[in-house]
Amino acid sequence: MRHRITVLGAGYAGTSAAGYLARHLHTDDFEITVVSAAPDFVERIRMHQLAAGQDLRRHGLAEMFAGTGIRLRLARVTAVDAGERTVTVTDGGGADRIGYDTLLYALGSTVADHGVPGVAEHAFHVAERPAALRLRQRLDELGEGGTVLVVGGNLTAIEVATEIAESRPGLRVALTTSGELGGWLGPKGRRHLLRAFDRFGIAVHEHTTIERVEETGAIAADGAAFAADATVWAAGFTVHPIAAASGLDVEDDGRITVDRMMRSVSHPEVYAAGDSAYAIGENGQPLPMSCASAGFTRMQATAAIIGDLTGHKISKVSLAYLGNCISLGGKDAIVQFVDGDARSRSWSLRGRPAARVKAAVLKGTVWNMNNPTYGLPTRRHRKAVAPRRPAELVAD
Ligand SMILES: Cc1cc2nc3c(=O)[nH]c(=O)nc-3n(C[C@H](O)[C@H](O)[C@H](O)COP(=O)(O)OP(=O)(O)OC[C@H]3O[C@@H](n4cnc5c(N)ncnc54)[C@H](O)[C@@H]3O)c2cc1C
Repeated sequence: MRHRITVLGAGYAGTSAAGYLARHLHTDDFEITVVSAAPDFVERIRMHQLAAGQDLRRHGLAEMFAGTGIRLRLARVTAVDAGERTVTVTDGGGADRIGYDTLLYALGSTVADHGVPGVAEHAFHVAERPAALRLRQRLDELGEGGTVLVVGGNLTAIEVATEIAESRPGLRVALTTSGELGGWLGPKGRRHLLRAFDRFGIAVHEHTTIERVEETGAIAADGAAFAADATVWAAGFTVHPIAAASGLDVEDDGRITVDRMMRSVSHPEVYAAGDSAYAIGENGQPLPMSCASAGFTRMQATAAIIGDLTGHKISKVSLAYLGNCISLGGKDAIVQFVDGDARSRSWSLRGRPAARVKAAVLKGTVWNMNNPTYGLPTRRHRKAVAPRRPAELVAD
């Protein structure tokens, strides 16, 4: 019987992991299955663009995986039983259970409502494609002078507010944030950000914590009411509750606790990558949920899976946090670098050159999904007969 590797999720971590594994493991010994709720690889980092009205190219997973031997199961994961080594899924045909020998958990994250009443019922968000399309439809319905309130002061809030303001100049856009807008940026980056908001005419309300969202707007902790035809909740991400209910060891925020090789600390046949993994970076701090982190953690996870199953040496992938690349509409951006303590450096790249970097990143991530080995030749390894090596021997 072939060794069953199941990859949950086909985002940045899952899609490239599956492609990489399929190019390095022998099909006589390994069977790779990807479970995805969506038939496409979704460019999640462009969901604000989709919401604002841009049409994105679709990337069908069946076409991306063609010829690799990967089996694609289009279904929603509803549960993982780490003790039994099974995954429960549902699709049009009902519920089913899939057994696995090795699991790579890469279900990503979704919007965090922080328990604020009314968010689920009344707010829009851009954390997933269906949600971004719902917001887009709502924006289409709004006439000249319609108001959009973006809640949040971090990366996604900045990107969604500027993208809507640029694409739909007839709308009035406002943003509320409990802290300072882009307060973590270096001084030049922050000045550039505030100038961009000014140019777009986005009203900024700092130190304003939203306590309730209603159909017609949002209410702040001090009682101030912000009327809006559409409230966009962009106040952070959280992971799906599936891992926490699976029997795997997880952190307080539900992310899977992993070792340096991305193995679950409680179930070493389970690996995690991307937003779902609580991985400690080179700076000693948890890696932020980001596309770059998804890339590094997936590289480490696939190296470990191949090493553990075939006996090959596992190379250590640098788990770096280098900075953020923030779009301000289509023609402007900020690339903010951070130091070894994850603090913003005083210098940053801004304006058109930064927008060109952002465009290259967007293009590069899709290329990487289709070329998970970066175009390098690959060799398919056979399954090792020797038992798994202890983690401490492979970690150096
Ligand atoms: C609007 C926006 C802009 C962003 N911009 C940036 C940026 O500029 N730079 C950056 O680094 N990061 C950015 N991010 C964050 C980045 O998108 C995430 O960190 C990244 O997608 C994480 O990759 P992942 O593979 O872990 O998860 P995802 O890319 O979210 O992939 C998870 C996959 O799992 C699938 N899935 C989820 N639940 C289930 C289920 N129950 N059953 C089956 N399948 C399921 C999903 O459909 C998806 O295919 C942005 C995010 C958003 C929303």
